[in-house]
Amino acid sequence: MTKSYDWIVVGAGFTGASLSYELAKQGLWVLLIEQHTHLQGATRYSYGGLAFWSGTTDLTRQICAEGEAIHRNLSAELEADTHFHDLDLLMTIGPDEDADAIYQFYQQFAKQPQRISPQAAGELEPLLNTEAIAAALVIPHGQIEPELATQAYVNAFLRVGGELYVGQVTGLSYGQLGQATGVICEQASFGAAHTVICAGAFSRALLKSAGIPTRVYFTHAEIIETAPQSDLQLRTMVSQADLKRFDLERSASIDALDPLWDEPGHEPAPPILDAGAIQLPDGRFRIGQLSRTLTDLEAAVERPSSEAQIRAGVRPLLPAIADLPGEWCRCQIAYSADQLPLVGAMPGVEGLHLFTGFSSPLAIAPALARRFAAQAVGGEDSLLVPLSPQRFAGAIS
Ligand SMILES: Cc1cc2nc3c(=O)[nH]c(=O)nc-3n(C[C@H](O)[C@H](O)[C@H](O)COP(=O)(O)OP(=O)(O)OC[C@H]3O[C@@H](n4cnc5c(N)ncnc54)[C@H](O)[C@@H]3O)c2cc1C
Repeated sequence: MTKSYDWIVVGAGFTGASLSYELAKQGLWVLLIEQHTHLQGATRYSYGGLAFWSGTTDLTRQICAEGEAIHRNLSAELEADTHFHDLDLLMTIGPDEDADAIYQFYQQFAKQPQRISPQAAGELEPLLNTEAIAAALVIPHGQIEPELATQAYVNAFLRVGGELYVGQVTGLSYGQLGQATGVICEQASFGAAHTVICAGAFSRALLKSAGIPTRVYFTHAEIIETAPQSDLQLRTMVSQADLKRFDLERSASIDALDPLWDEPGHEPAPPILDAGAIQLPDGRFRIGQLSRTLTDLEAAVERPSSEAQIRAGVRPLLPAIADLPGEWCRCQIAYSADQLPLVGAMPGVEGLHLFTGFSSPLAIAPALARRFAAQAVGGEDSLLVPLSPQRFAGAIS
């Protein structure tokens, strides 16, 4: 171990890329470590949606507002196009669903969607089959191209003096007092005063292998990605209004089920499908999304039946898109037990930090990364305190 960095950031998905850039921008000497040369994690398959409207508390409203301000200027700051744009999120309500209850649910957010008729929804989104819905909700949303935005962060990080190492982190190294002093990779070891884990769904297993329990979980997300389509244009992001994924996350991460997540072969809650589709700036569609809580990161899934299920769920809503030829894709998305990310120092291991457990990080990670980095060179940021991994310290085995 020859060098000792100020910070090592493990994982170069959207969270690690944004955090490493912000740390390096503060003048810190930062090493970003990523196991793949090309993105393969959740960021690679993301819809890129930015729900700036979705804060439900003072904390989350503030972070969403800060995230929006950053995103609106991010292409200029990073000197690369993140493809940020405003677009409507169109949320469908089926004839068998309780439209009033769903509308009521959305009243908790910082900004509330407008309830519209099937006809108005069809005018907004001509690819929508209005006969399949009883109503819809619409709200101004944002979108980035997640891979390009992540690459933009990494390139900007390198420009401000950051260093990138491609290799898999297999363990942490410790000093005589038990403090984290860096990481061990297959071909090399690196020292740092601070190490921060941004490994998405892999964070739990990585920390567990170092003997450190965390309340980070993951869903297996399955989608179909098409080739660029120049003759079809989705004007909105389409999603069912009654999203099942957040209930799935909650039910699979209750205290009693936590030990299952350290063993392969379990599925704490049955799979769900949130039917919807988005289009990327280059014309590709992503159609999905099946979510499973399989506790094995490498768990096998029945690809043909998954694909058929996704297409069957999307077909009534978006018939022109549902059967486009495309490739079935799968990745894992991290989440925490309380829908808030784990951001801050890991209790009990000096020098080790988390920036993970985000279920939908794209709107807020830039703001949290900026605050995290400012805290690294300044005093404690009271806004970050409720996000500290400390909040689960009493509840982990
Ligand atoms: C279909 C789909 C739609 C989505 N839509 C949205 C949306 O609209 N809005 C939103 O906000 N979010 C959305 N998300 C979620 C969001 O995209 C992801 O949560 C986010 O991109 C994850 O970023 P990450 O950096 O935490 O994880 P990842 O992108 O998974 O990155 C983690 C990185 O860590 C690396 N890594 C892991 N272990 C190691 C190791 N030991 N050594 C070195 N490197 C390691 C991995 O290779 C990976 O590159 C969606 C996700 C999916 C799949």
